[in-house]
Amino acid sequence: MRKLLLPALTCLLMGTLSGCQKKAVEENPFFTVWETPFGVPPFDKIKDQHYKPAIEEGIARHEGQIDSIVRNTEMPTFANVIEALENSGELLSNAYTVFSLVKAADATDAMQQIDAEITPMVTSHYDNIYLNNALFQKVKAVYDQREQLGLDPQQLRLTEKIYKRFVRAGALLTPDQKDQLRKINEQLSQLGVQFSKNLLAENNAYALVLEKSEDLAGIPAGARQAAQQEAEARGMEGKFVFTLSKPSLIPFMTYSEKPELRRQMYEAYLERGNHDNESDNKQIVSDMARLRMQKAQLMGYPTYAAFVLDDVMASTPENAYHLLDQIWTPALALASKELEEMKQIKKQETGSDEFNSWDWWYYAEKVRKSKYNLDEEMIRPYLSLDYVTSGVFQLANRLWGTSFRPVAVPYYNPECVAYEVLDKDDTHLGILYFDFFPRPGKQGGAWCGTYRDPQYKDGKRVAPVVTIVANFTRPLNENQPALLNLDEAATLFHEFGHAMHSLFSQVHYKSLAEVERDFVELPSQIMENWAFNPAMLKVYAKHYQSNTDMPEDLVNKIRKSRYFNQGFMTTELTAASLSDLDIHSIDKDQPIDVNAFEKEALYTKRGLIPQIEPRYRYPYFSHIFDGGYAAGYYSYLWAEVLDKDAFEAFVESGDLFNREIADSYRRNILEKGGSEDGMTMYKNFRGAEPDIKPLLRNRGLIPDEPEPATDSLPQSTPATSATPAA
Ligand SMILES: [Zn+2]
Repeated sequence: MRKLLLPALTCLLMGTLSGCQKKAVEENPFFTVWETPFGVPPFDKIKDQHYKPAIEEGIARHEGQIDSIVRNTEMPTFANVIEALENSGELLSNAYTVFSLVKAADATDAMQQIDAEITPMVTSHYDNIYLNNALFQKVKAVYDQREQLGLDPQQLRLTEKIYKRFVRAGALLTPDQKDQLRKINEQLSQLGVQFSKNLLAENNAYALVLEKSEDLAGIPAGARQAAQQEAEARGMEGKFVFTLSKPSLIPFMTYSEKPELRRQMYEAYLERGNHDNESDNKQIVSDMARLRMQKAQLMGYPTYAAFVLDDVMASTPENAYHLLDQIWTPALALASKELEEMKQIKKQETGSDEFNSWDWWYYAEKVRKSKYNLDEEMIRPYLSLDYVTSGVFQLANRLWGTSFRPVAVPYYNPECVAYEVLDKDDTHLGILYFDFFPRPGKQGGAWCGTYRDPQYKDGKRVAPVVTIVANFTRPLNENQPALLNLDEAATLFHEFGHAMHSLFSQVHYKSLAEVERDFVELPSQIMENWAFNPAMLKVYAKHYQSNTDMPEDLVNKIRKSRYFNQGFMTTELTAASLSDLDIHSIDKDQPIDVNAFEKEALYTKRGLIPQIEPRYRYPYFSHIFDGGYAAGYYSYLWAEVLDKDAFEAFVESGDLFNREIADSYRRNILEKGGSEDGMTMYKNFRGAEPDIKPLLRNRGLIPDEPEPATDSLPQSTPATSATPAA
């Protein structure tokens, strides 16, 4: 569940083109004004062959614009330097954004090839800008006199942000150091592209093909039918194919009664990128960690983690480690208790004392059944994708009065749907795309991205175009909607929160839409608090056939099982956060044996139990090697301190849909984007710094508050399912 972070792109103007370029210009949609509804990208006209020429031309025009800023002989001002920079590079930004988002959701082989060619080009182009000393001197001149220029708060913030961006990109380095940095950035960008390509190949390389009905023992009908369809799609009629995509993997791990098959499946998942073949990612991981360390040291920081964290809420790796340490010990203790419970069940069933990592989902589900009398399959019929989608829409409507209207717009894949988002007074807030189901060209997981960032131009708001992409369970047939599990439903609430953050934005400059990375998950994660709250389930959870509400006793079971498996989930998440910080805390330039490094850090040093794997191992940890979260995976837990504490504001008011609090949250946080520091915005909303206790309580790591007298009172914790690949 990520916010897709693209390289800082900024923007404008159509230059005069030479004769031979004109033909390409006429045919290439990136060179035309988009005459589409709401100005969305003309996906139906964009073909693979349009990206590279558009990006090359975009770079050339951007260079021209930068050159005019540098050559301008007038005194440097906010308008002729900062604003001019902010508005430059529009063609490049448009083309590269569309390319990156479509490639993540619907990559073709040709796009993979183009990616390998253009990403290093774009990286080096931005290095040319940020390492351009004449340009930096102009930025610095405005920055140095920023207090005297009569700038408004957003202009001041933009000036500071752009100055800092230059400094953090190496503007203060000597010419020799700048050369070194360019080389490092170029290598990093090539390695990142290769990492992603390898991982996609590894995801697609494995399939568990079953023929005998006894091998399907325990698998629910829905998952069985999906496996049959997958086999048919591959020309293997009569067989059953399970893949490493979550909707296939998780039901298999949860229900398959065949331990040997669970082992095969889980090991295939864990060993992606670790096969010593041409798709192996270990060397890439080692090289990237070393190059990042070299980059940080060039910048005057001891480690890459120190370099990255200097620019976010946490400020230092010590602060991030401190948070993780507070969670790690109680989480591990709780997970060990969960393990003991499951071991007993296994012993009773099989007589065996052995318990392996691939047993966890299977026996955890048995615990859920025996302890809470709850089976995830009982819940699915009440979580049809249509109803969950209507649930997030109704939540936004109750909190802020927004509404959502289906619209016909171009899309890049026929599976996409789109909505116009309207404010309570029916003004246009933006466009929201959904792309819900797994496909071979789609990356795993779920994310939210923006095709057009919110901003103001000529005093008028430019509305964002937002997309939510996921890998949810498909409908089993044409007569039935997609039926989600708890984790998938929570994911939709999560990504929808990211979307609302963009849709409500009132920032004047698109660079100000960027927020600190350890703050960016607050608007998404807070929405998960509503997802399975009894009051919210009443609003949206209805049986897909009979249209009846989720029965009261099922709602109660979900509430009572809210601490189910929390030890495991917290431990695997914290483990991945630690391994990310650890590998970005190296300060010596030596090759890393990444498997040994992980083992030493998590199991030997920190006592992780062998039955739990970190949520990601390095060779497939795409958040940190291909997704902008390097030394930042802890952000999910950091932001969870914020989201759990922020949600308390609604709980304390006695009304989960309190309009006044929702309005304050919108004004102080969602509308502000990154136009103020995260902590300032947070305190403006909540009146105090966040408290970690609601997080610990919600994960069952410290005792809960007393049970409320009735079930209809607010409850703040969702029960989500165990998942190795959020
Ligand atoms: Zn997220």
